[in-house]
Amino acid sequence: MVGVAIRIALVLVVVAFSGCAAAAPERRFEFARVCMGVRTTVTLYARDREIAENAGAAAFARIGELDDAMSDYRAGSELMRLCARAGEWVWVSEDLFRVLEEARRVSAASDGAFDATMGPAVGLWRRAKKDGRLPTAEEIDAARGVMGWGLVEFEQKGRLVALRRAGMRLDLGGIAKGYAAQRAVDVLKRAGCPRCLVAMSGDIVAGDAPPGEKGWRVAVVMERSGRPIGKILLENAAVSTSGDTEQFVEIGGVRYSHIIDPATLLGMTARRCAVVVSTRGEWADALATALCVMGPERADGLIDTFPGTGWVVDEGGGERTDVTDNSRGVIRWTD
Ligand code: AMP
Ligand code: MG
Repeated sequence: MVGVAIRIALVLVVVAFSGCAAAAPERRFEFARVCMGVRTTVTLYARDREIAENAGAAAFARIGELDDAMSDYRAGSELMRLCARAGEWVWVSEDLFRVLEEARRVSAASDGAFDATMGPAVGLWRRAKKDGRLPTAEEIDAARGVMGWGLVEFEQKGRLVALRRAGMRLDLGGIAKGYAAQRAVDVLKRAGCPRCLVAMSGDIVAGDAPPGEKGWRVAVVMERSGRPIGKILLENAAVSTSGDTEQFVEIGGVRYSHIIDPATLLGMTARRCAVVVSTRGEWADALATALCVMGPERADGLIDTFPGTGWVVDEGGGERTDVTDNSRGVIRWTD
């Protein structure tokens, strides 16, 4: 039985359980909404519908709050208001501060492969997708002039952030969904439903295992060939996938992924997808994006600085479907 199908680079499928429902006092509930632009499901076990519905509503409310803080599509989001106030110290919410700090950390660890200050380049990619033309060298230079963590200052005590140049634009698209799914799981646990799973497209965070099970089974499948890579068993862990299967633009016969290559500031042209399992949703999300840029050769050096994290990179461009698995026991494969 299939619970959720997620379509990005690799497909992650949450495999439902039919087993011990009769013996267990808890029943399985699933709720779905569109959040942060993607179909989001909350799956949980609860004794009755009222508990389940209240917990589900609280989880969606938390995700909504994070969308209000971190969206780069809405001019009124906290993130966009911060970008509009370059040159000033701006007080920000705890969530935004935490995500910015984690984004900066992944950026430093990945030598800038993951870089949430690349908003201006993401803007150029979106325009290219709309108009079918690549940015000019001047436009790329101008974008580069308003990027980089060296232009962002943090003041821990007062929870203040300052962007040092007008025109800067932060983009949390590579980390916000993993963070939001993680916070939604926190809410579900506090609401008395620790056996839960939140799936936001390619970013999934699991709480405790379903009754009588060792974890939530998530199938990793190559989307184009349909070739199964394997099933992962998740308990109090996150899995994210990144790649270019759905989000890309083709110009002059070249395919540019929505993941920006920091070297060119154009979309990545190497065909690559990554799966990362981690103890934190925000790490899984950001590291999967980073590995799409870095490739398997540099993956170990990056992943080693994030405890409880494992990875799989697929370099299946065209007909090739090599999968490099270096999960070192962190990814628990199952039947
Ligand atoms: P994901 O689907 O998690 O891999 O995130 C992709 C999104 O992250 C893109 O749609 C952009 O909004 C943003 N992004 C693109 N390239 C990068 C990059 N190199 N580092 C950080 N964020 C990026
Ligand atoms: Mg990501």
